[in-house]
Amino acid sequence: MTTEILKRNLPRFELDQVRDLALELYGIRGEFSRQDSERDLSCKVRSDDGETVVLKIANAAEPESIIDFQVHALEHIAACNPRLPVPRMIASTNGRPYEWIESASGERHMLRVLSYLPGNPIDTRADALSDRMRYALGALVAELDLALRGFFHPAARSNDHLWDLTRCLELRPQIDLLADAELRDVCRRVFDHAEAVVLPQLRQLRWQVIHQDADARNTLVDPDEPHKPVGIIDFGDMLYGPLVAEIATIDTRAEDERDPVGCLCATAAGFDSRLPLEEAEVDLIYDASLIRQVTNVILVAGRDAIDDSHGYISGVEDDIRILGRTIDEGRDRATRRIREACRFPVYAALPRNGNTVDDDYDALAHKRTRRLGEVVHFYDKPLHFVRGEGPWLITPDGRRYLDAYNNVQQIGHANAHVARALYRQSSVLNVNTRYLCDIVADYAERLTADLPDHLNACVFVNSGSEANDVAMQLAKFASGREGALIMDAAYHGCTETTMELSPSESGRFDHLEYLEAPDMYRGRFADDADAAQKYAADVGRALADLGQRGHRPSAWMIDTALCSNGVAMAPDGYFDRVAREVQAAGGLVIADEVQAGMGRLGDFWGFRAQGLEHVDMITMGKPVGNGHPLGVVITDKALIDRFAAQIELFSTFGGNPVSCAAGMAVLDEIERLDLVNKGAEVGDYLRTQLRGLAERQPLIGDVRGKGMIIGLEFVTDRERKTPARAETEQLIDLMLAERILIGKSGPEQNALKMRPNFAWETAQVDYFVDALDRCLDKL
Ligand code: PMP
Repeated sequence: MTTEILKRNLPRFELDQVRDLALELYGIRGEFSRQDSERDLSCKVRSDDGETVVLKIANAAEPESIIDFQVHALEHIAACNPRLPVPRMIASTNGRPYEWIESASGERHMLRVLSYLPGNPIDTRADALSDRMRYALGALVAELDLALRGFFHPAARSNDHLWDLTRCLELRPQIDLLADAELRDVCRRVFDHAEAVVLPQLRQLRWQVIHQDADARNTLVDPDEPHKPVGIIDFGDMLYGPLVAEIATIDTRAEDERDPVGCLCATAAGFDSRLPLEEAEVDLIYDASLIRQVTNVILVAGRDAIDDSHGYISGVEDDIRILGRTIDEGRDRATRRIREACRFPVYAALPRNGNTVDDDYDALAHKRTRRLGEVVHFYDKPLHFVRGEGPWLITPDGRRYLDAYNNVQQIGHANAHVARALYRQSSVLNVNTRYLCDIVADYAERLTADLPDHLNACVFVNSGSEANDVAMQLAKFASGREGALIMDAAYHGCTETTMELSPSESGRFDHLEYLEAPDMYRGRFADDADAAQKYAADVGRALADLGQRGHRPSAWMIDTALCSNGVAMAPDGYFDRVAREVQAAGGLVIADEVQAGMGRLGDFWGFRAQGLEHVDMITMGKPVGNGHPLGVVITDKALIDRFAAQIELFSTFGGNPVSCAAGMAVLDEIERLDLVNKGAEVGDYLRTQLRGLAERQPLIGDVRGKGMIIGLEFVTDRERKTPARAETEQLIDLMLAERILIGKSGPEQNALKMRPNFAWETAQVDYFVDALDRCLDKL
């Protein structure tokens, strides 16, 4: 086995020779003192004219291109960020950045002079080792990398040295030099994992020219305030490499060496504060640190074994202890901590080549119940998801569930454009709507652009319930009345007013009247050619009943998807007939588009999809921000103005620029990806496939819906339409076992309410229908 690569071969010059060269080539005279260096000869010179500089004689083996690389990098940094505390090149009297010199034995070396940075190397100041310092150092190194990100040099990839994290496997043979068998084993395991997992992943991350040696010898702190890093020196290991290697290089030495991962957290958070890390990078910091630590142990211990000049990089026993502690912490726990430090979702680590996040389900369920009360859910145990991806929700162990239920993340889970819009706006400004802000006005304009003239102004709030609450306040104000009409199984929200408007959840109230649902499957007029007229006739009855109790209607609030009515399909013309009657009776029509809006029914607006010609108000919620809380009331500006003249209409968070950025991004995606039409096509395909399935599966009584809302009703007897309540209940669990999320609905609780998001393709439809087929077979 060769030990050749571990030899340092320091340049051999006496101090007197160095003095003569400095005078001859740079005109520098002064007090010279040698400094430790791994490969070069380095002298600190306090010159007679009061300046302090560093003179470096490069290793004879150093190619000229590598020095040229450093010269250009330092020039680039000085140009990009002159405030960065890194050395500056000092030209020779001939105006050159370095000079060639010859040793007594005839070896040629490059000599150069750099400015001296004041400060104490961190390894000389035990009191510098704090999280505060590490955070600041991480930030400083990130700023250095920001300055270097536009820099390249042909030698950047040929600066071959043993500290290059991406070439660590070349050190494998040197592991045998280590005396301790257990340590050899640790090193082998780290390199095996590096080969199988880490290096292939590192190759796909961000690479650029990086310093890659900001360890405790090459970083300086303020002598009076040792928590303040004030300098980064020694650009000899600089190379083109993965950014994340930079963090791994910063020392993991803690004051008491007990918590090396804590050190990584502080450094990573500092780095991330200036140069935001990508998720895949954060998940490799721990492994990169292990590689760096193992490299260090191999090189230092190996050199100790063969070198005559050991002692320069000392403390390998400490390093071995720190390595042991880092390994003891384990990848999962360490990655969680690093994620938390950078505020990446802690439980959502990317499944890395079969590695999954540790999931202490019971502890989480207990914590949740203790602090938030019982979870309302549909299954035996509440599900735990850590990540969303288009149509999928993903558990900590990487299992993917198809989401057929959720009507909030309408354009797909974790939509990147929306996430970025939220981040970008909140990185710049978030204030309330008392200030003028472009995006808020632009968003209101965009939302109302294709609506009839009288729907021309927005009130922004934070939820569907609030939107409905405000809409009712406006309707009551406009009409001077307290009464209202709603559907018999409506749901409109959770505020006091909207809870009253939700007979599916609350009792009945004197000032409200409840319209019979226009159910075309099991309703009274299901098979009647005049069903629209007959169902709409219930308005007359309702108005009369309301009148008998001394109330008149301020409004008819209508969920145009009839979602809580089991996605009932109204006969053509029904909505418009009711609207006309209500309006004739002096009430306003409020289209609650919380479910139906944003393209759910195959038209951007639910009221249009249902052929409702004239609505007085629209309310929106759920999908408007694709998960970000945002609610909207759209109505006539004249009404809003009249109302606001008497009662202040203001919501602190409603319509803040960050919410509006989310709303804008949702509209961008809907338009650019033509999602409304796509949803209509996928929804039609789903209904067609389900009707096909119904030919084989007698339990399916009805398949209905519009666009991306689908109602699926189960009966034990098709003739009698006997609700299959128990079977529907069972089906939900069977579908869960198939990893599909679905919910039930309808007055008889025998209907599946499906609201797939627009990330669904026909592949998801096939997956769903096949699974449903298997589940129905089991019933
Ligand atoms: N209206 C309808 C039709 C709804 O379905 C809901 C919520 N399910 C709401 C209003 C209330 O919305 P939020 O939960 O955002 O307050």
